[in-house]
Amino acid sequence: MKILNSPSEAITYRKTLNGSVGFVPTMGALHEGHLSLIEKAREENDFVIVSIFVNPTQFLPGEDLDKYPRRLEADFEICRRAGVDAVFTPAPENMYTNDEVLIKAPKVKGYILEGFNRPGHFDGVLQVVNKLFNIIRPTRAYFGKKDAQQLYLIKQMVDNFFFNIEIVECETKREKDGLALSSRNIYLSEEERKRALSISKALKRAAKLSSKTNNIEKIKKEMIEILDVDELQYIAFVDRDFNYINEIKPGNTIILIAAKVGSTRLIDNIFI
Ligand code: AMP
Repeated sequence: MKILNSPSEAITYRKTLNGSVGFVPTMGALHEGHLSLIEKAREENDFVIVSIFVNPTQFLPGEDLDKYPRRLEADFEICRRAGVDAVFTPAPENMYTNDEVLIKAPKVKGYILEGFNRPGHFDGVLQVVNKLFNIIRPTRAYFGKKDAQQLYLIKQMVDNFFFNIEIVECETKREKDGLALSSRNIYLSEEERKRALSISKALKRAAKLSSKTNNIEKIKKEMIEILDVDELQYIAFVDRDFNYINEIKPGNTIILIAAKVGSTRLIDNIFI
């Protein structure tokens, strides 16, 4: 497995590849969720490239950039075992210059929900994904539905900028008890983890109720009763294009939650 430490190394390596390239962008601290994306990419492409880059521009001041888990050697081993051809792990100073051309997330859908609670977050995400796409030039790129709004905005960027890349949507991997896997779960104490579970429970309950009623207020009320978090940032009901909806539309609804448990911010969602 090749380790590519700079954009120029990655660009040179990419030129040697003859065949389809599956690309999995990550921030590392790899878990089974990431692995499911890598495995899918492995099945569907001649070559698989994973990037591991804790992208500074998508963190807001005061967020967990400095303490974000970094486990490069363990991540390499996971990638090796999964049959990854190359890992791209650049230093921030090789990815960014001082006074850059910037990409802005769309004014509405980039600034609601995650974008409202983390203003500028999606500008940073789109900026780095744009760079990564140009460096790796993948045939297909794999993203998790766990970050549903991110996935939506990346698909929009691909359309708006005419990238010739297929975006592959991957299901959210969960622990046996339902907790969505996340690199940030390691921040949770045992007690907090138990309460974090109320997020996936509330979503599961909402999905069940949705088969009986379209009434969002009724569903939301039950979700709030189940939730045992310290700060509920939002419960939102949107269609697949991230327009707010007034009632459940089966087959075209996403229910999303963002909440803090202790000081850890968690997001999860369910597609109805
Ligand atoms: P991250 O390293 O958190 O930036 O995530 C990298 C990619 O893995 C993103 O496309 C995420 O949506 C995806 N991902 C994160 N957690 C999960 C999960 N539990 N199941 C599936 N995909 C995930």
